[in-house]
Amino acid sequence: MRQTARITSHNPTVAEVDLGAFHENVRNIKKRIHDDSMLMAVIKTNAYGHGVVPIGKEAVKAGADRLGVTAVEEGAALRESGVDVPIHLLGSITFEQAGDVIEYELTPFVASTELAKTISAEAIKRNVTLPLHVKMDTGLHRFGMEPGEVLSFCETCYDLPGISWEGIYTHFSSADEGEWEKTEQEYQLFHDTVAELESNGFHFPIKHVAASTITLERQDMHLGMVRPGIALFGYAPAPRQRKMVRLKPVMRLRSKLVRVRELPPETPVGYGGSYVTKKKEKIAVVPIGLGDGYHLALSNKGQMLVRGQRAGIVGSISLDQTLIDVTNIDGVSEGDEVIVMGRQGDNEILAPQIADWMGSNVDEVLASLMMRVQREYI
Ligand SMILES: *Cc1c(COP(=O)(O)O)cnc(C)c1O
Repeated sequence: MRQTARITSHNPTVAEVDLGAFHENVRNIKKRIHDDSMLMAVIKTNAYGHGVVPIGKEAVKAGADRLGVTAVEEGAALRESGVDVPIHLLGSITFEQAGDVIEYELTPFVASTELAKTISAEAIKRNVTLPLHVKMDTGLHRFGMEPGEVLSFCETCYDLPGISWEGIYTHFSSADEGEWEKTEQEYQLFHDTVAELESNGFHFPIKHVAASTITLERQDMHLGMVRPGIALFGYAPAPRQRKMVRLKPVMRLRSKLVRVRELPPETPVGYGGSYVTKKKEKIAVVPIGLGDGYHLALSNKGQMLVRGQRAGIVGSISLDQTLIDVTNIDGVSEGDEVIVMGRQGDNEILAPQIADWMGSNVDEVLASLMMRVQREYI
């Protein structure tokens, strides 16, 4: 920031982040959760591209009891900006990060004896007690302990000094896809394992399993806490959920036409000439590209809005620029606003449509947006 402080007018590609819409989404989701459940706002991956610090602060204002991130750096940035609610680390940490996790009072999960012992030793050195959660793998096969291993883990680690076992959780593999039989099996496995632990004297006050889908669809699985992420940013994970709750997209991505030119028929456009003009066509340059997190897969496929109308992407997207065909848009000129994602006039391009063009999902569309794209909070 310091080196660029004298810039008076920034790159025209800007992500507008509507904190009011985010606030309403948090409130609307909070209304749907079980009375006994806390709300952890999951704002990992730089708040799905929206900026972890401003979003984290707004989440707390809107009534989130806790925050969830993946990177220690994200947790540290939130602490340094004054956020004092519990902050969970939903991604793994290395042994070397244990000290930082304790210094910043973050709440990691543990899925191995070695990590529990390392955190215990680091906490004792600092004369503190760190709350921990056990993560159990019930079918995602990513992080977490096998259900069959948790009891012997507890026998070894439950009484370690410097740590307190605040919670236990799992993350389902196929809830978004609506595979309820599988999801209920995973839930049952979690439930039965926790019951066995408790009958052996190992208690975990906060039990939690619910990401966005379970938060929206299954109050019976809310337990002590829910952990919605993507829904807070305005997108329900599955189309079937769109009627269940009012959610507003939080991000709008805008830019400007920096060049408009008319090209004769049969003119190759962009690297490799993957598009060739069919007639006399008006082609415009938009300063957004791969380096902003705008994907190559959108080449010759995606669209943007200019003067409320759709303009197709032509040629292959380069590091910093994208070309669009504005032949049919009346009065188009350099400096016109371009909407890459969001509403303009009566037209709208939202993240699910961009995801379709890319053959991807909404998470990737949002979280890809690079740091260099200026965020404007409104
Ligand atoms: C990402 C994540 C969530 C939030 O998932 P959404 O589907 O975006 O709501 C919840 N819990 C864990 C452990 C996660 O990693």
